[in-house]
Amino acid sequence: MSAPATTIFTVMTALAEETGAINLGQGFPDEDGPSLVVEAAVAALRSGTQNQYAPLGGVAPLRAAVLDHQRRRYGLEPEDVQVTFGATEALASALLGLLSPGDEVVVLDPVYDSYPAIAAMAGATLRRVALHPPDWRLDPEEVRAAIGPRTRMLLLNSPHNPTGRVLDRAELEAIAALCVEYDLIAVTDEVYEHLVLDTDREHIPLATLPGMEQRTLTISSVGKTYSLTGWKIGWASGPAELVGAVRSVKQFLSFAGGTPLQHAAAAALGAGDGLPGELAVALRGKRDRLSAGLTAAGFAVLPSQGTYFVCADADPLGHPDAEALCLRLPHEAGVVAIPISAFVSDPAGETRSLLRFAFCKRESVLDEAVQRLVAWAG
Ligand SMILES: *Cc1c(COP(=O)(O)O)cnc(C)c1O
Repeated sequence: MSAPATTIFTVMTALAEETGAINLGQGFPDEDGPSLVVEAAVAALRSGTQNQYAPLGGVAPLRAAVLDHQRRRYGLEPEDVQVTFGATEALASALLGLLSPGDEVVVLDPVYDSYPAIAAMAGATLRRVALHPPDWRLDPEEVRAAIGPRTRMLLLNSPHNPTGRVLDRAELEAIAALCVEYDLIAVTDEVYEHLVLDTDREHIPLATLPGMEQRTLTISSVGKTYSLTGWKIGWASGPAELVGAVRSVKQFLSFAGGTPLQHAAAAALGAGDGLPGELAVALRGKRDRLSAGLTAAGFAVLPSQGTYFVCADADPLGHPDAEALCLRLPHEAGVVAIPISAFVSDPAGETRSLLRFAFCKRESVLDEAVQRLVAWAG
């Protein structure tokens, strides 16, 4: 495989730096995570005993904390846990360890940008199933139609980046039934599991549905849950065979590292679900604030139920091509957003006029971005 081309994030981040625009493109918080977790990292760094290679599987307190989290929150009993360099390495190791060249993987479209690259490294092909705007609903019959004789895996992300959609129980049950019917492995990217922002929604891990625990590898990490995206401490849990496949690849990608941060991640998970709960409350306010501002500027805002992101349609403002608009906005309005076309198989399709905005920023930053967009649109 040849090296992938420059991503839209590199282009837009460079534009943000060049123009001094407010960057609502990339999804990282502009405030640190909880001090309890940061202090646990400092203590680990100073301990004199927690700065060498971790065991391959991860440090014992973190592996225990992940098991306990899956048990207390979801009633799951994973056979094994593998700690990784963020969810990204867990995903890469899962695809490299579980797929053979020519295998097919069913994914949602729009898709998180690392999946196509990782699938290509594994020699596998993505079969995309659309989440349709404006509600980003999934049609189970389209999932069935995407499954063929070479399909081996379903790779699911909910709460979903870039749309903010949280799949509901009916959609997940339909997906689970198809995984059982066609004997597929499920790999779930649940990095936003704690960031469901609508109070009438819940995150339902696919592994909790009938017939799924024994065929699902569940992936998450500390980055989004604790506003520590630079830490890159993640994990995969599930049946011993699937976790073992991750471990066998991971040992030759990075072996084992980030030991003090692994100990701090254990402290974070051990502190219960209150910390991410507070973050979700704060993010709900930010989502609503930015959504109202985008509406005031003349965008049609699509529903977002979770994650860091909300999508907005620029068509009502007379801009049918979001990619062209995103390249001009930093210069014209002083704001950076990402076109959804960067995440879809057909950039000219039904998402052509949609932009993704990140709301995981301080309220003063969101307000300034909104003021600029209102001024630009008016
Ligand atoms: C941020 C993100 C990841 C990467 O998680 P890390 O723990 O930082 O590697 C994976 N999947 C999705 C959907 C994300 O948004």
